[in-house]
Amino acid sequence: MTDNETSSTGNFIRQIISEDLKKNKNNGEVITRFPPEPNGYLHIGHAKSICLNFGLAKDNNGECHLRFDDTNPCKEDIEYVESIKNDVKWLGFDWGKHLYYSSDYFDKLYEYAIALIKSGKAYVCSLSGEEIREFRGTLKLPGKNSPYRSRTIEENLELFEKMRVGEFEDGTHVLRAKIDMSSPNLTMRDPTLYRIRRVTHHRTLNKWCIYPMYDFTHCLSDSIENITHSICTLEFENNRPLYDWVLDELKVKCHPQQIEFARLNLTNTIMSKRKLLQLVEEKYVSSWDDPRMPTLAGLRRRGFTPVAIRDFCERIGVAKADSEVNIALLEHCIREDLNKKAQRVMVVLKPLKVIIDNYPEDKVEEFEADNNPEDPSMGKRKVPFSKIIYIEKDDFMEDPPKKFFRLAPGREIRLKHAYYIKCESVVKDEKTGEIIELHCTYDPDTRGGWSNDGRKVRGTSHWVSASHGVLTEVRLYDHLLLDKSGDDKDFISLLNPDSLKVLNDAIAEPSIKEAKKDVPYQFLRQGYFCVDSIDSTSENLVFNRTVSLRDSWSKIAKAKKQ
Ligand code: ATP
Ligand code: MG
Repeated sequence: MTDNETSSTGNFIRQIISEDLKKNKNNGEVITRFPPEPNGYLHIGHAKSICLNFGLAKDNNGECHLRFDDTNPCKEDIEYVESIKNDVKWLGFDWGKHLYYSSDYFDKLYEYAIALIKSGKAYVCSLSGEEIREFRGTLKLPGKNSPYRSRTIEENLELFEKMRVGEFEDGTHVLRAKIDMSSPNLTMRDPTLYRIRRVTHHRTLNKWCIYPMYDFTHCLSDSIENITHSICTLEFENNRPLYDWVLDELKVKCHPQQIEFARLNLTNTIMSKRKLLQLVEEKYVSSWDDPRMPTLAGLRRRGFTPVAIRDFCERIGVAKADSEVNIALLEHCIREDLNKKAQRVMVVLKPLKVIIDNYPEDKVEEFEADNNPEDPSMGKRKVPFSKIIYIEKDDFMEDPPKKFFRLAPGREIRLKHAYYIKCESVVKDEKTGEIIELHCTYDPDTRGGWSNDGRKVRGTSHWVSASHGVLTEVRLYDHLLLDKSGDDKDFISLLNPDSLKVLNDAIAEPSIKEAKKDVPYQFLRQGYFCVDSIDSTSENLVFNRTVSLRDSWSKIAKAKKQ
């Protein structure tokens, strides 16, 4: 099996772990971690990492830690910490007692830094940020040693202590590892380990004014927690030698193995927290949980289920080369799950009034309808029918083209669960010419929607009784980005102007009054919907369309195979 192949039995990381277990490496233990930085909400890409890390631990009777990698106080916030915990739980994973923060290790990390200085492997550098960049060189040009590289251990200890107690301004000094300024790997050219930042940290408050860098913090946090396999995304491949260097130089007891995998890229959306933050801050979306966002909070509000997201993560597999997944696959996964669970209802999104001339004025009939034809255990409900009903505007055409099989003057269609009706006449607004209502007749011998004489109709429409219908707001969502590739620099110009359409006069069958948050619905012929968790009230129902019914995935998958 090559690196990029995955199978239902496993991926290359699973294989590494099972080899390790065979050799009884790490005493047969598997301890992984999911290490988000609390500087934004989790998105579907993080779900891939969560499913992988928690999944590997679970399958091997191990543990997975949730660790907040909170070493950059400028961008971090407690709101993000809470949302991340909530999202991981919602996805169905449990860190048990293993909730950690890198900031809890600040004292230990400081001691490790002192140890590096004492062994001559770290020094305080007083070049400016710009000079450090200049001295670093490029891929083609080797770097130059900092003039401060030869400071004595005593001098370094003294300066580092002064950095800690706040004697220096931000940016005046940093602590750097003393490795190799001519290394072909730029990461190894004396990377910065600590910088001065006079910023209040959301947990340690004002205790520290120096903060450790990611590369120093991450490996040591892994080691402190006895992580066995430190799984991260591909962009850290170049950092692996530094990960190993720090742990080797400090001769720590636990030296986890870093393994990289390809991050998830998804078409028609964005996976960068920075860009997602920009969408929120510049109000292109309403919030982090706007149903158009690829965040877990957004997907949840949109009506996605943890089952569908976990299924998606399973299907995309884990590979070592970057690739882009078509968003149609994610949509396919949610359809599959909701098809089994969603309660069917009839809702007319764009109503057109239909008067059934030969139906008695005050008569009301109730038709029985399956709540879910896929699952009889979900029972049946009653749908009232009366003289005036609504059908979809799109289900009628005055002058239909050849392939239009729905209602038209003189034509007959089936009303789902009810009767055949035939269009007799059309009433229009005198001024605008807009169609206001249709006059139809029904055939009493087609009760339940079936004729006794074998007469066939080609179209079936959903409908709602006018006097029983419930007015609801319906929000239709489409892809966030028009273009397929989401991580383009100029992504703002790619935003889909029709990513949200609000319909204010949709009319739903009366059973909708009991709609509960967290219960999925299928609006017949229109897609899967859920109650909006924020804006919907019992007086003003608001529904979000999770996904339409048309599945484009099988076509795409077929085309891919060829
Ligand atoms: P940042 O640019 O802020 O570092 P990030 O998306 O890497 O953004 P982290 O909070 O560092 O955010 O991510 C936590 C974990 O999730 C990391 O281990 C990271 O590798 C993983 N991760 C992030 N994005 C993806 C993605 N698109 N696919 C798979 N894993 C991801
Ligand atoms: Mg990151």
